Amino acid sequence: MANLINGARNVWETQDVDVLVAGGGPAGLGAAIGAARMGARTLLVERMGFLGGVGAIGLGMTINAMRPDGKPRSLVHEAFLERLTRFGDIAYRYEENGLVDHAYVTNTEYLKLAAFQALEDAGCEYLLHSFVSDAIVERDAVRGVIVSTKSGPLRINAKRVVDATGDGDVLYFAGCPVAKGREEDGFLSPMTSLFVIGGVDVDRIVGYQRALERDSDSEVHNVGPRWTRLLADGRREGYEVPERMHLRPTVYPGSVYVNHAGNKLYGVLDGTNVNDLTKAERLMRQQAVDVVRLLKDRNIPGFENAYLEQVSAWAGVRETRRVVGEYVLTEEDAKTGARFPDAIARRFGLLDVGYVRLEKMTPHDVPYRALVPKRIDNILASGRNISTTHVAMSAGKSMGNCMATGHAAGVASVLSIRQNVAPREVNTRLVREALARDGVPLDI
Ligand SMILES: Cc1cc2nc3c(=O)[nH]c(=O)nc-3n(C[C@H](O)[C@H](O)[C@H](O)COP(=O)(O)OP(=O)(O)OC[C@H]3O[C@@H](n4cnc5c(N)ncnc54)[C@H](O)[C@@H]3O)c2cc1C
Repeated sequence: MANLINGARNVWETQDVDVLVAGGGPAGLGAAIGAARMGARTLLVERMGFLGGVGAIGLGMTINAMRPDGKPRSLVHEAFLERLTRFGDIAYRYEENGLVDHAYVTNTEYLKLAAFQALEDAGCEYLLHSFVSDAIVERDAVRGVIVSTKSGPLRINAKRVVDATGDGDVLYFAGCPVAKGREEDGFLSPMTSLFVIGGVDVDRIVGYQRALERDSDSEVHNVGPRWTRLLADGRREGYEVPERMHLRPTVYPGSVYVNHAGNKLYGVLDGTNVNDLTKAERLMRQQAVDVVRLLKDRNIPGFENAYLEQVSAWAGVRETRRVVGEYVLTEEDAKTGARFPDAIARRFGLLDVGYVRLEKMTPHDVPYRALVPKRIDNILASGRNISTTHVAMSAGKSMGNCMATGHAAGVASVLSIRQNVAPREVNTRLVREALARDGVPLDI
């Protein structure tokens, strides 16, 4: 423990780092571990009191694409998984099923500790309760960030910055061009607060859900059971419940977690607008309470003794800003399995505009250029905020894919420092070679 406390004090005194990673979700962990493993002085800055991003607030949501086809996809992914799985099956369950054929369901308390440990193993420093609130930009190049803390603002100078905030906060503050939402009308995938229902008979619920699935006709969100009718009836009677939902067993005995359509019926809410975030938080706490109430009031089998156990720490944001980069990844790329000579990651999984559209896609490359913002130097995008169209953002936004683009951003940042060039000029052959040494199979 003494070491941990000393570690925190040292970080506080840090003013100059090689690589600053903003955000400690899957992309941030990938970037920080990737950069620190190369010996660069790396500092990860996270606004919350824990790490893991949506993975940690998901309360057992499946963490997809960490091991596509059951095979390791990088030493960075494995470094995190090694720490998680070391806790044993109390901490995780590995799932293989038709839809997400490779997923980890976790106890998020173990996940949060595993994230710290994986960073420490890599020699990465971190600072929590620190909101990156501005970027320091000189002559169109990022030189560091301003962090808002309880002690006041803190300036951190950095040779390179990786934006892993999900929302592209630092890219935006730095003046990089960004896009947001569906091209024609600005529609954003809904936000959702996941929640866990305890005291349930999981087997009966799963059976009931399967029966609903068999009985359903085709619907827009063509996955999972159709609780749609029950929810619609409930809404007519005044229950504040979402349009659709999907229940899955957690790793905790006698509980299920609920993923759902969040604010979809309540208009577009923007996760980069503080008023909308406030509305979303209020709405979704009501939704969680009312879903449990409805399931009990309707005597749905398995919920007789149910209670609301936990709601995610903040409303999960599926879609906000994307950087406009040197290449914009498209729906066509995702569907046709596009290949690029400067590929730095592969994306696996589904094209999934949350509770609006869900389709299979083809594994495809992410070109390095999709991490490189137009115009501004010394900063790279990663995870949810890389350069894509609205639909391509949804394609393969699974956490394993976000960690992969983070990893690439971390490695490219370090190489660009070593080559003494801006990240946009880094030799991508060397980036690919470094990633290959980190166990990333880019040629499959
Ligand atoms: C409701 C919902 C359901 C989903 N379901 C699944 C699923 O089943 N399986 C799956 O694999 N993926 C799922 N996803 C998608 C996946 O969770 C995200 O695409 C992924 O987490 C994005 O990773 P990221 O690291 O880019 O961002 P995030 O996970 O959002 O992490 C960003 C981190 O940055 C921090 N941060 C933000 N702004 C700042 C700032 N200014 N300063 C400092 N820190 C900051 C945040 O606190 C957070 O820790 C889901 C997402 C949502 C919202």
